[in-house]
Amino acid sequence: MKPIHGDDTIVALATATGTAAIAVIRLSGPEAISIADKLFKPKKGKDRSLFSSKTHTIHFGTIQENGKLVDEVLLSLMKMPNSYTGEDTVEISCHGSPYIQQKIIQLCQSGGARLAGPGEFTMRAFLNGKMDLSQAEAVADLIASDSAASHQLALKQMRGGFSEEIRNLRQKLIHLASLVELELDFSEEDVEFASRSDLKEVIVQLIKVITDLITSFELGNVIRKGIPVVIVGKPNAGKSTLLNALLNEDRAIVSETAGTTRDTIEEEVTLEGVKFRFIDTAGLRDTKDDIEMIGVSKAFEKMNESPVILYLFDVLISRGKELKQDLYKLKSGLNEKVRIIPVGNKMDTVSMYNLNNEFKSIENLFYISAKEKTNIDKLRSYLLSLYSRGKIDANNSIVTSARHAEALKKVSDDLSRVYEGLSKNITNDFIASDLRQALMHLGEITGEISTEDLLENIFSKFCIGK
Ligand code: GDP
Repeated sequence: MKPIHGDDTIVALATATGTAAIAVIRLSGPEAISIADKLFKPKKGKDRSLFSSKTHTIHFGTIQENGKLVDEVLLSLMKMPNSYTGEDTVEISCHGSPYIQQKIIQLCQSGGARLAGPGEFTMRAFLNGKMDLSQAEAVADLIASDSAASHQLALKQMRGGFSEEIRNLRQKLIHLASLVELELDFSEEDVEFASRSDLKEVIVQLIKVITDLITSFELGNVIRKGIPVVIVGKPNAGKSTLLNALLNEDRAIVSETAGTTRDTIEEEVTLEGVKFRFIDTAGLRDTKDDIEMIGVSKAFEKMNESPVILYLFDVLISRGKELKQDLYKLKSGLNEKVRIIPVGNKMDTVSMYNLNNEFKSIENLFYISAKEKTNIDKLRSYLLSLYSRGKIDANNSIVTSARHAEALKKVSDDLSRVYEGLSKNITNDFIASDLRQALMHLGEITGEISTEDLLENIFSKFCIGK
């Protein structure tokens, strides 16, 4: 596709607002060069206009307002089609004072530019065929990524790994649809261009690939948002101490975020490049029978969303029989995918002999001392092993967007109908129609099929200036 300009020229601050050493103001559109040219006075070659300068060059000079100096700047010139948006683009690196930033943006506006909306630069890149929709969405993920794993995923997607897979699927479906439609054209003559059993086989393969992609969303989603690990236990079991031990152990990046409900406290920790969200169910602390309480509290919801729960108990005061009952009660109330890991804390207070004796009937048990930091590394390795980096590093595609996962589910439903149709010898026009649906839903992912509403919805989540 030949790059096109948007109707107008947009301007925005591309760097974060506030004071900094340098700020970057970005201009893109048909008037970008002429607007910049009027404001900018180069230090060298004073008569030289930006129009006559080569693309991908940097120019040192000043920004002036009515002959008055505003700032000394570096200006980067990128002519269409070789820019991020595919349009003529100028980036002005100025000193990072909010006053200067605002002044230069205003001057660009007076020159004819309009303030850009959220994600508008990236939307233009998409409309100009610089990237497909799923790659554009990955740009937003990349900006938001805050751990090595989420960064890696976003980068992979932005560079088109996942798009490639979708394109392949689409190609196969188009081929299939064309065979079926061809038969339709010749239906009077009762010819069969593709045997139904061959078609069914291809459909089964496609459904398998799509199902794998849908399943990968679970992993993609937790990597992006952080893997939730709920810590439960009776008051004084040592939950806070354990949390601190996990944090200190790794000199982790810790950020305290308020839990989504008043019942929980969340701490984000990045362990070896994977972000975990440790959720302390504080709301359970004050109740006598916390297991009973779980059923009615919001914490229960949190637990069902979490792949693992650390059930912390104090080895000094707990009894094996009671613990087994508590674990059983907890398990029976939860979704079966949730793993409950019993963690016996305060192992420094009881001999190993007594521990083994008391808790011998409990499976997959960890003994730790949160206070003395014994076995914390084992627990940490265990958590990491659940989401090994290998899964991300491997060349398989991981779906990270709920929108993509939903579209894939629709494709899978469409294809199941095609399969059923083929099995029941339903007429080809129904089969062709389901195949067209599948193609449409697949096209929504990469943006081959898009509506204004969809684009608006996607790009409104971007920051302004990207
Ligand atoms: P929470 O109510 O579950 O958050 O429990 P805390 O983390 O506040 O700990 C309760 C008490 O147990 C504190 O006095 C801790 O110092 C103590 N404690 C926690 N972990 C250990 C441990 O491994 N060994 C011993 N001896 N005491 C511990």
